[in-house]
Amino acid sequence: MSVLVYIDHTDGEIKKSSLEAASYGAQLASQLGVAAHGLVLGTLNADLPALGKQGLQKVHQVKNDSLNQFDPGQQAAMVAEAVTNLGATVVVVSNNVTGKALGPRLSARLKAGLVAGAVALPDTSNGFVVKKAVFSGKAFAQIAVSSPIKIIALTPNAFSVTNGDGSAEVADINLTVPAAKIKVTGTNKIKGQIPLSEAELVVSGGRGLKGPENWGMIEELADLLGAATACSRPVADSHWRPHHEHVGQTGGAVAPNLYFAVGISGAIQHLAGVNRSKVIVVINKDPEAPFFKAADYGIVGDAFEVMPKIIDSVKKL
Ligand code: FAD
Repeated sequence: MSVLVYIDHTDGEIKKSSLEAASYGAQLASQLGVAAHGLVLGTLNADLPALGKQGLQKVHQVKNDSLNQFDPGQQAAMVAEAVTNLGATVVVVSNNVTGKALGPRLSARLKAGLVAGAVALPDTSNGFVVKKAVFSGKAFAQIAVSSPIKIIALTPNAFSVTNGDGSAEVADINLTVPAAKIKVTGTNKIKGQIPLSEAELVVSGGRGLKGPENWGMIEELADLLGAATACSRPVADSHWRPHHEHVGQTGGAVAPNLYFAVGISGAIQHLAGVNRSKVIVVINKDPEAPFFKAADYGIVGDAFEVMPKIIDSVKKL
């Protein structure tokens, strides 16, 4: 019996969400009294023994440069084979873009119950009950999983990365590599942008900014803070900003330590994607804007006057 954590990566760099999944998997394994293992598909630049810091005891690696990191079908077949070979009873993936495609495929292959969007360690005192957010983060559900193999897709930023002093053993694992069904003809990297789902600080703008030409102050504050930029849906729909920046019910979900909302009204559909932020700062000229009800700090004022002052203050820090 073991907990197996799927270690997701982009071009050989381990994603922060995978470090969270590794930390979660290791703590779950210790709770269950079983071993915590990781699985890496591909050759990585990363220091794999360092995954011991998150508590993994052993990392199984398929060293193969021809794997297709964009093909969830290929990944699912390989992870399922590893689960069977290693006798894992719990599989942990991050509920990021990769995990959302991988989890259901694994669930079907292994006939395993899947909890997508877990936010806490399972309660194993009486069965195996996992807490997840539902209704766009408005409520929590407790999901009891009774299948012999269980799959947990952990919400990014819901669990802290642990940093111990362990070192994981790294071992090659031989898995059948199915032919990829997806052919990647090219990739286009978004320059300098921190992936929103992993961002710890986010500066976001809404229709109150009037037009794309005014995004300089959002970008400047984001640069100074080392934050990612985001926007409301109408902003992306109007092509003021790219669609991948749109957060909310129909966009991405973020859970940063700080969410800075500038000229955004705070409609329920927007809040659905940002209400797991630890601290929310709202700048809006309308004191009745609904966002103020969700804010930890609110500034009633014109963004065009307030933002330059904030930027100047941050520059002086
Ligand atoms: P507005 O509602 O126009 O608000 C602009 C705000 O800026 C106002 O509060 C105004 O007081 C303030 N303002 C204006 N000028 C200034 C200034 N100079 N300084 C400071 N403040 C100023 N929306 C999302 O964001 N994400 C989603 O995922 C999403 N999904 C949706 C799904 C469905 C099914 C539906 C029906 C809607 C969805 N929406 C979503 C749209 C949502 O309902 C709102 O219409 C949208 O969030 C409003 O965007 P906004 O706050 O930028 O614009």
